[in-house]
Amino acid sequence: MFTCRNQSCGAEWALSDVDIHNEGQGLLFRCPMCGARNYVTRHKTEEGELTYDQVQELPPNGKR
Ligand SMILES: [Zn+2]
Repeated sequence: MFTCRNQSCGAEWALSDVDIHNEGQGLLFRCPMCGARNYVTRHKTEEGELTYDQVQELPPNGKR
């Protein structure tokens, strides 16, 4: 479950609700409600399943 980092939005989304893609500064999804960028990191389990963790630092990676 992801939570939109836009504090005035704060909507919660399941992985199936969002479109994770790369706009050049890392993986992110756009909140379907407010359009805010929410960065994520991708992990692969031992079973080969892809999972995503939401990045909490703002801004992520020291970039804007
Ligand atoms: Zn939002």
